[in-house]
Amino acid sequence: YQAKKGGGSVAPYDSSRDGASTDQLTLLAELREALAVDDQLQLALQPAVDLATGAPTGVEALVRWLHPRRGLLTPADFIGPVEHSEQLGAFTRYVLDKALAIAAGWARDGLDVPISVNISARSLLDPRLPAEIAEALRRHDVPPRRLVLEITETVVMSELEVVDEVLGALRAMGVQIAVDDFGTGFSSLTFLTRVPVDEVKVDRSFVIRMADSPEAAAIVRTTVGLAHELGLRVVAEGVETAEQRIALAELGCTAAQGYHFFKPMSADKISAVLGSLLDSATANVFPLRADG
Ligand code: C2E
Ligand code: MG
Ligand code: MG
Ligand code: MG
Repeated sequence: YQAKKGGGSVAPYDSSRDGASTDQLTLLAELREALAVDDQLQLALQPAVDLATGAPTGVEALVRWLHPRRGLLTPADFIGPVEHSEQLGAFTRYVLDKALAIAAGWARDGLDVPISVNISARSLLDPRLPAEIAEALRRHDVPPRRLVLEITETVVMSELEVVDEVLGALRAMGVQIAVDDFGTGFSSLTFLTRVPVDEVKVDRSFVIRMADSPEAAAIVRTTVGLAHELGLRVVAEGVETAEQRIALAELGCTAAQGYHFFKPMSADKISAVLGSLLDSATANVFPLRADG
């Protein structure tokens, strides 16, 4: 199948997608084209920062689809159908390839910051994934430690054997694993004992509720304590205010990400931001009081 640029080509009917709506089939046909032809799929990049020094601890890649007719699409507009389609593998490879190309550029600029890529749970069931990632790392000359894969606890527990094998192979290569949206799954604690990870990302819903809900604050405190006890890094997601930043620091959280620090930005903007963050990183960059 060869997608034609600008052509209104329609993907051949595929019985494995029975049940998908016409809209979804159209979207998937358009995705096939986007993956084949040009720069419609882009990565927005959002740094996470160390709460003590302001240094960047990593950068998350967030996919955007600059659709020629529908305009800017965010993952909520298309990830669901993609995850259930045969194009998931191609999509995952495409995002990883773009992310590693960006990370390779940072390495050339002397910026030693890992890039985090969100990986759909279903991609972890593909035993070819580790070899594909190894090949992509070699092709871009990026050390495995510079790649963090963000996975969620929705990883089907029943298929944990395959997932174990895939994650085990990736970690043996030196690739890092982060649990995204931590605390929103059914058995978060069990997950941490079953799946070897390097980082835990506290879900934004707890950060939002922390100020008003002692339960949410307790979950954040417990997650931070547990992660540190297990030797894992912790990053709080979706931090929008100085109050949240301060509360997180008080709960022992060491790193955070969110609009309060940076909104996701384009690849051409981020190198300068990382450069200045690395240059200015120093103790006590953040005031400890919201009015400071
Ligand atoms: P996530 O991995 O939990 O990413 C965090 C989401 O929160 C992102 O939304 C980000 O733009 C947004 N965000 C960051 N800081 C703030 C904040 O301070 N306030 C608020 N309200 N939101 C904030 P986005 O980019 O729309 O992505 C949504 C989800 O889509 C991601 O959640 C991730 O699960 C998924 N996703 C994103 N990129 C990819 C990808 O390349 N592949 C796959 N499979 N999934 C992706
Ligand atoms: Mg994520
Ligand atoms: Mg998340
Ligand atoms: Mg989230």
